[in-house]
Order: sequence, then structure tokens, then C-alpha cells
Amino acid sequence: MTINGSGTAIAGKGGVMLQKQPGLHVLRLKAVAGDLNVKQLKRIARVAKRYAKGEVHLSTRQGIEIPHIHRDNLEAALKELQEAGVAMGATGTRIRVIVACPGEQICKWGVFDTKRIAGQLDATYFNRETPSKFKMAVTGCANNCTKANENDIGIRGAIEPSWNLKNCSDCGVCVRKCPSASISRTGKGDGRFHYDVDRHTCINCSACVLVCSGKAWVVSRKGYNLSIGGTMGKAPRFATLLKKVIESEKELFLLIESAIAVYRKYAAPRERFGHMIDREGLEKITAEIVEVAESGNKRQKKKDAKNRKKTTVTVTECA
Ligand code: SF4
Ligand code: SF4
Ligand code: SF4
Repeated sequence: MTINGSGTAIAGKGGVMLQKQPGLHVLRLKAVAGDLNVKQLKRIARVAKRYAKGEVHLSTRQGIEIPHIHRDNLEAALKELQEAGVAMGATGTRIRVIVACPGEQICKWGVFDTKRIAGQLDATYFNRETPSKFKMAVTGCANNCTKANENDIGIRGAIEPSWNLKNCSDCGVCVRKCPSASISRTGKGDGRFHYDVDRHTCINCSACVLVCSGKAWVVSRKGYNLSIGGTMGKAPRFATLLKKVIESEKELFLLIESAIAVYRKYAAPRERFGHMIDREGLEKITAEIVEVAESGNKRQKKKDAKNRKKTTVTVTECA
């Protein structure tokens, strides 16, 4: 965070918003995955007390905002925040602060380390310019606490179950508990029954694994469900599921990079990702995202192979 010049110049920087009252501003602070430490919280409280009305606002995206800062105090307030490692959030047509739930480090339902993924997304994408505002949310499981499908990019923990006849008592609990009615039983009560999952309707939630006391349902794969184009606002749109149970982090990031590239290619100024998808056509856009990701993957593989070759030559020369 660079702090230069007068309050007016600072007011144009990311995270500093004009308030409706003339001369007053709101500071939007950055809290990746909603995390701040005690030192940062104390400093935020001090700044709010010293330069504003001694109060903060908790935003819907896990952020803290300090309202009522006069333009003459902006520079000093920002400097004090910066000293304690409190960075500014994003405003305008940019990639916003990444939201995430506690994930597997804290929550028993978590399928993966949401904070780590949020940190990687932040390091790669935060504040990158986009045609309109662009939001990302990471959520550890199908409970979807961070509402991933209201975001331009939503990443949700997912499992794929598989069934094992040997351990099944044919109690039928899994059929009743599956939230998407994806489990069906075939066969008769003579031991020749079978439980199947409809992979298309399955929401990868792990309820079957948890309720099956005999451990007949087990997790066969786990990964990320990636959704694109969700938004709230004046024209809300529920996100589109791009791919289920992505096991590789590399593939996940390639698809995200590709989705952003395709968004930038087609979107009109100030047009949200989801609205662009609807205008251009879902099939066309999803196909292009997958294609761009695949060619990115090929390029990466070639690069890796080249690097490996170089390393081998170096080792030979040394020997
Ligand atoms: S989304 Fe799942 S993992 Fe994340 S906090 Fe909610 S229940 Fe826990
Ligand atoms: S809950 Fe488990 S034991 Fe019961 S029917 Fe389903 S798979 Fe079989
Ligand atoms: S993972 Fe969830 S949605 Fe899929 S079959 Fe099991 S209970 Fe049903």
C-alpha cells in the first residue's frame, strides 16, 4: 500500500470509498478468508477511535470497513493500518478479496484446506482488473457456508462415493438421507440387491458415507466442484457448475485462469461474468473455458519437459 499525496489523491485508491456525506470516506480493509490477527484488530480499533466514530462495519464478504474518516485524516489512518499489516480491500472493476469458510483445518465437514486455497487465489488474482467486479468464494463442503454459487468463481469441497456390497446390511438409510435422491436400490431382498448413485444428480456431499453405519459407502474420490458466473445484485444469477470433483489443484487453477481469460475476452464493460455467459451462450463459453485450460495444460507440460531435459543435461555434465 503506497500512501502518497493529499487525501483527495488517496480517495481514488482501491479500498477507499466516498461516503454520501461530503468529505467523509469509508476504508474497506482486506481480510483474506475473513482472517485478521489480534494485532491487526487492535490497530483497526485504534484507527476507528482516533480518526472516525469509534465503530466499524462488518461486511457481507467477511471484511471490516471503517466509516466516517475525514479526507484530512486518510493519510494518517492508512499509514497506521499499514504499520500493523492491515491492507486495503478492493473496489471497482477488480477481483475482490477472497472469501472462505474455515474448511478442514477447523470444521469436521471440511473436505480440503480452504484457507490455503484462498491464500493462493489471493496471491494470484487479488486486485487484478476485470470487466466488472469479480468475486471468488471457497467453501469446504456441500453445506456451502460461503455461498460459493453466488460468486463469479465458486470452489466447493466435493466427494464421490462408492458402494461396497460386502458391508451393506440393506437398511435403506442412505436412500432416505441422500439430499438429492441420487441413490437407488435395485434387486430383491434375496441378497442380490445393489445400491447405485446417479453421478449427474449427486451433489457430492458425503451424507451417504456419514450415515452408513456399516461403511458400505466410502469416499472413492475427493476434490473441488468448480462453479462459474454466480452473482447477487440487481440481476441475481445462480452459478453454473463447470466441473465436478476436480482432483488436481493444477487443473483447478488452470480452469480458473481460463475462465477469467474467457470472461475478459467477451464481456462488455461493467458486464458481470454470469450475464456475459447468458448473452454469449452457456455451451460456447464453457467449451471455450475447457479448451483454453487444456491448451494451457499442454503448454505447461511442454515447458516442464523442456526444463527436465535441461536438468538432465546439467547433471550429466557435472558427473
Ligand atoms: S462449508 Fe462445510 S467445511 Fe465450510 S464451514 Fe460450512 S460446514 Fe464447515
Ligand atoms: S446405509 Fe449403508 S448399510 Fe444401509 S443400505 Fe445404505 S449402504 Fe447399505
Ligand atoms: S454424496 Fe450426497 S448426493 Fe451423492 S449420493 Fe451420497 S448422499 Fe447422495
